[in-house]
Amino acid sequence: MNITERVSTPVKCRVHLHVHLEGSMRSSTLWDLRRQKNLPLPGNGALKDLEETLKINSPGDLAFCLEKFQWLLPALEGDLAAIERVAFEFVEDEAGGAVLYTEPRFSPRLLVGAGGQVTARQVTEAALRGLARGQQQFGVTARLLLCCIRGMPENYMDTLDICTEYRDKGVVGMDIAGDEAMAVPKDGDAASCIQSSAAELAVFQEAARRGIHRTVHAGEMGPAFMVQIALDKMHAERIGHGYHVLEDEELYRRCIKERVHFECCPSSSYHAGLVPLTQTKHPIQRFCEDGANFSANLDDTIIFQYSFEDEHTLLRRMGFTEANFASMNFNAAKACFLPEDEKKELLKTLLKAHGVPDVM
Ligand SMILES: [Zn+2]
Repeated sequence: MNITERVSTPVKCRVHLHVHLEGSMRSSTLWDLRRQKNLPLPGNGALKDLEETLKINSPGDLAFCLEKFQWLLPALEGDLAAIERVAFEFVEDEAGGAVLYTEPRFSPRLLVGAGGQVTARQVTEAALRGLARGQQQFGVTARLLLCCIRGMPENYMDTLDICTEYRDKGVVGMDIAGDEAMAVPKDGDAASCIQSSAAELAVFQEAARRGIHRTVHAGEMGPAFMVQIALDKMHAERIGHGYHVLEDEELYRRCIKERVHFECCPSSSYHAGLVPLTQTKHPIQRFCEDGANFSANLDDTIIFQYSFEDEHTLLRRMGFTEANFASMNFNAAKACFLPEDEKKELLKTLLKAHGVPDVM
């Protein structure tokens, strides 16, 4: 490393818990892979045309954002070298964002390819290789979460089995993502949701039985009872987003008391139209005022096209201070899925990065 690089490398002080690996690939890499594979490109086929197509110019809805993944997945399907490359570049980008520890997530079963060219285990191993190489080269500790997708129950048990097989090889937990509307029948209540989500509940209960860590996308667009179901029926240790918990005061107070960690993604929630810009107060502001346990994360940077700096600018405009940012990082570190001894080391390093003497 030369002097210029050393000076420009930021002190690693961030903990990143909610970020989708496919959704965070570089647009230049996506462009490169689509060209290599003769996959269609928008406009004149230039990189900027692709970037323009992926970008959300005004807040849309979640389904509109999820559609954008159709551009991403074919570039990676069945291509282990591409998956490894994306994972490696992801860690390099995290280093540029001053990230000390990151827990990216993805769905290996979605990348096996239409003809099943490769297995979900090979896909997982390719991502782990990329993360490990990145960790070695850029000094960012990276662990993987495997994601189930709502509405694809045929993948649930296999995803859990892969989490179990690779638990000591870099996979630290399981998630479920996708459109929450799938879990909530029209005008449905908690009881009907529980009934229609039997497969989701079963796989998370089995994950708890096996000691696999669990986080659940809930209350992002769905009602507060989705958070309650995630906690009580799926044994979620963390909640992805969770903003609608505020609609149930009793549940919200319970989450504060039990220190439930909310993986907030304020920029993504604005751009996906889930928290309208007209809303006077973003839920993350309430969480901050009430001393809830939460962090700020990036979610899908290729779609929303912003960095930690952009996110912090947004949060500063909401009144967040440097002390709030530090507190979010410590909350995230305590809520991460590393084994306890490694978590302790992470907390020590984080204290050092924040200039606090070693008191542990
Ligand atoms: Zn997410």
